[in-house]
Amino acid sequence: MALKKYVYFFGSGKADGSGKMKNLLGGKGAGLAEMTSLKIPVPPGFTITTEVCTLYYKNNRKYPKELNPQVDSALARVEKIMGKKFGSAEDPLLVSVRSGARSSMPGMMETVLNVGLTTKTIPGLVRKTQNERFVYDAYRRLMMMYSDVVMEKAAGIEPAEGEGIRQQLEHAMERMKKEKGYKNDTELSVDDLKRLCEEFKGIIRRTLGKEFPDDPREQLWGGIGAVFQSWMGKRAVSYRKIEKIPEEWGTAVNVQSMVFGNTGENSGTGVAFTRNPATGENVFFGEWLPNAQGEDVVAGIRTPNPVNEAGKTDDTRHLPSLEEAMPSLYKQLFAIEKRLEKHYQDMQDIEFTIEDGRLWMLQTRVGKRNGQAAIRMAVDMAKSKLITKGIALLRVKPEQIDELLHPSVDPAAEKSAVELAKGLPAGPGGAIGKVVFTADDAEGWARKGEKVILVRNETSPEDVHGMHAAEAILTARGGMTSHAALVARGWGKCCIVGCSELAINLHKKEIHVNGRVVREGDWITLNGTKGRVYEGKLKLLPADPEHNQWYKELMKWADQFRTLKVRTNADTPNDAAVARNFGAQGIGLCRTEHMFFDADRIRSVREMILSDALEGRRKALAKLLPMQKGDFVGIFKAMAGLPVTIRLLDPPLHEFLPHTDQELTELAGEMGVPFERLNAKNKSLHEFNPMLGHRGCRLGVTYPEIYEMQVQAIMEAACELAKERVKVIPEIMIPLVGHVKELETTRDLTVSVAERIQKEYKVKVPYTVGTMIELPRACVTSDEIAAHADFYSFGTNDLTQTVYGLSRDDAGRFLPTYVENGILKEDPFITIDQEGVGALMRMAVEKGRKVKKNLKMGICGEHGGEPKSVEFCHKIGLEYVSCSPFRVPIARFAAAQAALKKKAK
Ligand code: ADP
Ligand code: MG
Ligand code: MG
Repeated sequence: MALKKYVYFFGSGKADGSGKMKNLLGGKGAGLAEMTSLKIPVPPGFTITTEVCTLYYKNNRKYPKELNPQVDSALARVEKIMGKKFGSAEDPLLVSVRSGARSSMPGMMETVLNVGLTTKTIPGLVRKTQNERFVYDAYRRLMMMYSDVVMEKAAGIEPAEGEGIRQQLEHAMERMKKEKGYKNDTELSVDDLKRLCEEFKGIIRRTLGKEFPDDPREQLWGGIGAVFQSWMGKRAVSYRKIEKIPEEWGTAVNVQSMVFGNTGENSGTGVAFTRNPATGENVFFGEWLPNAQGEDVVAGIRTPNPVNEAGKTDDTRHLPSLEEAMPSLYKQLFAIEKRLEKHYQDMQDIEFTIEDGRLWMLQTRVGKRNGQAAIRMAVDMAKSKLITKGIALLRVKPEQIDELLHPSVDPAAEKSAVELAKGLPAGPGGAIGKVVFTADDAEGWARKGEKVILVRNETSPEDVHGMHAAEAILTARGGMTSHAALVARGWGKCCIVGCSELAINLHKKEIHVNGRVVREGDWITLNGTKGRVYEGKLKLLPADPEHNQWYKELMKWADQFRTLKVRTNADTPNDAAVARNFGAQGIGLCRTEHMFFDADRIRSVREMILSDALEGRRKALAKLLPMQKGDFVGIFKAMAGLPVTIRLLDPPLHEFLPHTDQELTELAGEMGVPFERLNAKNKSLHEFNPMLGHRGCRLGVTYPEIYEMQVQAIMEAACELAKERVKVIPEIMIPLVGHVKELETTRDLTVSVAERIQKEYKVKVPYTVGTMIELPRACVTSDEIAAHADFYSFGTNDLTQTVYGLSRDDAGRFLPTYVENGILKEDPFITIDQEGVGALMRMAVEKGRKVKKNLKMGICGEHGGEPKSVEFCHKIGLEYVSCSPFRVPIARFAAAQAALKKKAK
């Protein structure tokens, strides 16, 4: 039997793997293999598969025994190409050890550069390069990365805040720079660096109780182990949770020969995007630093220079671009970037290093982008025929559509506002919030309902939970490719980076900026589109996607592809109008009880409830009738020409009564009834389990006069408007039907009232009567129920409650634990539980259609605006989904994706 392959080689135009093998090689490994095969210059190396990671954790953190020899033989191939030997005293090969999961997790896991430098190999490298300064610069970098990643983090050591080994070494370096009066790292001389390396060794020994390893193999395997360890590190685990990346995926490890951007002014390193990832504009966009190694750009230690002239802004105009500094190299890079985008048919995020005037590519992957950019790129690429419209639609995530629906800072308010500082616009949109300085505070304050903006010098992967909780992120350092920018972009969050005017005092929790002081808890406003920070709480304007040509185009395509209709849940004419503007094709759920709560009505409602006799109830209902009718007139007008589903009264009556003695006393006074009577009624209405109590059509069965009044109000409104030639299409919906007889009686009642009113008004209105499907029994007996229904609307909130036998209002105590422990993959109140609730829905659809082929069906539960649930509804053959007004565009878009995905199968 052939040996299991755990190691994939790439180099010199040949690769064992390919770009298609992301699952096995991780995104980085797959990209390196693919670029190698495309004959793009990539330093040779090999990838250890994600399978090894999985096995490592399965087998108690041990590697499969085949790994070691496979690594050895791959390393030998690399040595042969490079003409150098790993660990050789004459001409040593150095490598980087890089993590790389299936989907990119910016900075969550570790990379170590310059592995293989030891007291034995250093002299050889010095002789070979004739550049002692470079060698010791590489050595101090190795020590900084390795002690941090391998000796501390992977060893599970958790130092106190600010006392990590990396920070200690950084302080030592800062001390030396200060002592010598240097501003930049590049000013450190050979002797400085030599001294620093010795100092580093001492600090490492004292802090970690171990020598810095002087053996190349130990360094290599230490690095490999650290990458695997980091997969289960706190940061990676918390990022995976947010991004819903499964633990089973594992990470790959890439071992790659080093190329050096830090050998002098003829070298450098950078990160770039084939299109602008913040705006989507089709211009090559990136950042670079001369005489530096890759991590300098990403970590935001120095604010980098723009790659080209086109990428310069007023704030970066004075910095040298690569286009100016190394024109012919820039041309090569430009050609490669064009080729990569065309090859991958998508925007690429690339890393490159220039070693002594020679260009090397170190990474290519599909670049992260915010919503605005995603939409613009997709539309532009489809228009230029790089991709089809269908692919364009599938490429934008529904949440990215959501981003465009977010607010921005009111330009009028901005004019007169106090500008605190300028920075780089890393994440567009506007945000207001109170300043906090740590990720934990951001999370804690947000949990208490505060809007916060997280302000840091720079962010690191330890901060992701706080970044997630914050409205926006503001950093003093770092460029457009810094950690903060990358993460914010992925989430579509407002973000400003590199705001160097901010002097942050973490200790006092203050920012000093241009003569002002901003303290913890003070409000600030960010304009992430322009990169401006303002004092106080400025007005935010609601999103205005209708002025975005790319959005409009994409949504037009979405409407062409989708077959599912999208309606809205709206109880007021205003909501109905908003939703219609967003493209709603009718109302899927209009709840009548909300109307009962208005101050001028609740009194009549209560009167009705208190009346023990039918006569009294009718009198109270008569007072409500004109008000309800007025509501329906407004809603029908707003939805003229489109169907409006109105649900008859659903909640239990006690919801309309107050509950404390004091409130009851007050109400008794107001209504002129004795307290005892009110109290007795209140007690008699008490239910142990209201969700399963006297509600829904059970009210209509026991108090038919209530439904009668409602139907009368609906039909009178409809008839009146019909006479004015407004087109109304009322759909009257009976809630919570479990038994066919419940529907039969309430339907008979509804029809008799509706017919009567039409006769009175001498006009015909095309009304229908249907039911909500929200009880398991209704699904199971759908073949009986369908005979009496013109339409079904799935009430998936109640259906989920009743299928699971849990109350949504009480589930908060344990559902989060279920999701955390992985007992449930997702909260079933957020996305439809397809195996359970979904199976019953499917049954209801099939049984219903057997009896009535053209039975109209939709969904009106909150799931109707959630993309995965929308896809499910499409699959089981519903005709429409209905969701809250602001979700309508997302649902339209998700519906198009659902249609495209089904077609693709
Ligand atoms: P991340 O996934 O966090 O970006 P990377 O593995 O890409 O981590 O590495 C961090 C930095 O080190 C990048 O800028 C990368 O280009 C650089 N780098 C990685 N390997 C090498 C190498 N073999 N030679 C030169 N630079 C490298
Ligand atoms: Mg990288
Ligand atoms: Mg319900």
